[in-house]
Amino acid sequence: MTTSSHLDRLNPEQLAAIETTEGPLLVLAGAGTGKTRVLTTRFAHILLSYRAKPWQVLTVTFTNKAAREMRERIARILGEPAEGLWLGTFHALCARMLRRHAEYVGLTSGFLILDTDDQMRLLKQVVEPWRIDVKRWPLNGLLGIIQRWKDRGLTPDGITPAESTDYADGHARAIYAAYQSRLRELDACDFGDLMLHVVEILRTRPDVLEQYQRLFRYILVDEYQDTNTIQYLWLRLLARREGEPANICCVGDDDQSIYSWRGAEVENILRFEKDFPGAKIVRLERNYRSTAQILGAAAGLIAHNEGRLGKTLRPGRDDAQGELVHVVGVWDSDAEAREVCSRIENLWRNGHPLGEFAILVRAGFQTRSFEERLVQTGIPYRIVGGLRFYERAEIRDAIAYMRLLINPADDLAFERIVNLPKRGVGPAALQKLHAQARGQKASLYMALEALLETKGFKGKSAEKLADFQDCFVQQRALLEKEGHVVAVGALLEESGYLEMWREDKSPDAPGRLDNLKELIRALADFGTLGEFLEHIALVMDAEGTNEDERVSVMTLHGAKGLEFDTVYLPGWEEGVFPSQRTVDEGGDKAVEEERRLAYVGITRARYRATILHAANRRIYANWQESMPSRFLDELPDEYVDRAGETATRQARQDYSGFFRPSVFSDAVTGSMSPLVAKKRHPVNEELAANVPKIEVGTRVFHQKFGYGMVIGADRGSAEVAFEKAGTKRVMASYLQVAGE
Ligand code: ATP
Ligand code: MG
Repeated sequence: MTTSSHLDRLNPEQLAAIETTEGPLLVLAGAGTGKTRVLTTRFAHILLSYRAKPWQVLTVTFTNKAAREMRERIARILGEPAEGLWLGTFHALCARMLRRHAEYVGLTSGFLILDTDDQMRLLKQVVEPWRIDVKRWPLNGLLGIIQRWKDRGLTPDGITPAESTDYADGHARAIYAAYQSRLRELDACDFGDLMLHVVEILRTRPDVLEQYQRLFRYILVDEYQDTNTIQYLWLRLLARREGEPANICCVGDDDQSIYSWRGAEVENILRFEKDFPGAKIVRLERNYRSTAQILGAAAGLIAHNEGRLGKTLRPGRDDAQGELVHVVGVWDSDAEAREVCSRIENLWRNGHPLGEFAILVRAGFQTRSFEERLVQTGIPYRIVGGLRFYERAEIRDAIAYMRLLINPADDLAFERIVNLPKRGVGPAALQKLHAQARGQKASLYMALEALLETKGFKGKSAEKLADFQDCFVQQRALLEKEGHVVAVGALLEESGYLEMWREDKSPDAPGRLDNLKELIRALADFGTLGEFLEHIALVMDAEGTNEDERVSVMTLHGAKGLEFDTVYLPGWEEGVFPSQRTVDEGGDKAVEEERRLAYVGITRARYRATILHAANRRIYANWQESMPSRFLDELPDEYVDRAGETATRQARQDYSGFFRPSVFSDAVTGSMSPLVAKKRHPVNEELAANVPKIEVGTRVFHQKFGYGMVIGADRGSAEVAFEKAGTKRVMASYLQVAGE
């Protein structure tokens, strides 16, 4: 087999990992050493050597995006798309298993998967009898506790007093139990349940377990360092054949363990040899992704962590010499976005494809300024990860309509939309519906039918609710006849939901209507409404499929396993990265995890990595001065170009106390050119040229005097009629051109 083309160009260690198909195998290796490539090639090798059929290999990836990429890679190697693969994230694979055996845990095969929003609504109802002080014990904290329990495979019965918590006055366990039984009543489960239920089934139904153990001749797991306890239990149950440990191959890197906050246990790697006796371990040391400079910078940084397994990482590419890692200081987040976009534009103009750029942020809030700037400059981009599109309120409403359309028992969906648009359903009417539903032991939708029949509602709202109910009856018929795209369109139209947004005079209403149009467009890509809803529940990354010609904007967590020619890493400031909250909660251990995250970030880059930090950052409405991240000092000097940083630091010292956003940030943009970077004083010719053009009639903003209109201008100064402060003569460089 070694002569097959799919094994070309692999190094001896990689070949060993691919050809050791039988028995347990752990590949422990640093970033970019070809772990994922080994896994993919191993899959192809198993098929091409007739060891198994495509559906007899269980492959676990960490994101849907990774699953898609792997599916494509396998299709390329095989020369055709493979059908019926068990390839996906833990959650997607478990959802598929659970649909087959739902009755063993008291669900139907059509069970609903709740998202966080639904979970919160449900939890709110469930906790009512306990009268929890939600100021003291916020509900999302409670939800977090429940999720951690689920991550660890604990059902309410399994929680010992030692594992209990004081949270919610010690009622967390009881609330968890009530929450679980409510989910069952609703024929629903949350994300954590997908795993929890399947593990329970595998544990209690030996016949089912055996069926899967026989089915999966080979198991492949990527990013093994980030599996949590329940995922690990699931793997261990499946990875046996006739009492023997099966052919399980896990690949991972302890330095990239970044999900401990979600219950991941890096110890799972350390336990591998114990759990799977006779396990082989392969180490890969050549990095084929990044230049020597990028690797050197990343290695120097991660060396500051203690308790590492320790791995060697050598540049493996022939052309591994490249640029130094750039560190750039900027004034604020707007300047940061301008800086990154202008760098992207330059490279783009020189022929670098947009799909090869990534902006990797520590926290979701950071994306906004980049999105705005990218839109302004017309650079196509996509936000990868985190249900962005589907999270928008109007999309969630429309989805609730769809859910209720195919499942009249979906009470959460019913509650969300019964009064959207307004149908006069206040708390009293809702209470009435709930009482009726309880009495009838039926859903809210059926309670509504019953109440309409018995004239339980009066006046206008009776009429509107009758229309609401009638509309669902009509569209269900239409669904049968005309299919889901037509039916959903009609439902949103006839229910008055679209009309509600057309009537809405707020500036964001047109955009929302566009989103709804887009949603209906997306429906056509799916065979049935059920498939579409399943897709939404599972697909965490909102990126479109063939949108290669776009800059990717995403969180560092979402970038795991990916690679780009050029990577921008903004926001390297104390409090942002490392994140203040994480450090407050987790101390030194948390700093180490943040450092691993930084390591993941740098090692995504093939050729160019630029790290940015801003001198000021707005946290809510307040400006704060910020300190450069400690990680910047930890980068070894020999691999880093700090010219763009010293300019800012120096300028900041010279001009501290002044607030001059426009001049300052442009000064920093200018730092790209070495000439400007060396100048110590921002007030000079080059910079003056960067001051916004102040002409009579321009609307401007001044940090001290607020908004005003320029009524006179000459070189360097301007006379401005301020709205509040009256007419004043000020330095033009202190003015920003204000939007309308
Ligand atoms: P990460 O830890 O970031 O997930 P990884 O170990 O999974 O990284 P891969 O993504 O599999 O690494 O590989 C990194 C890059 O190196 C890919 O572009 C891959 O195609 C390339 N590569 C891997 N092995 C070789 C090889 N033997 N020769 C040339 N290129 C290789
Ligand atoms: Mg990988």
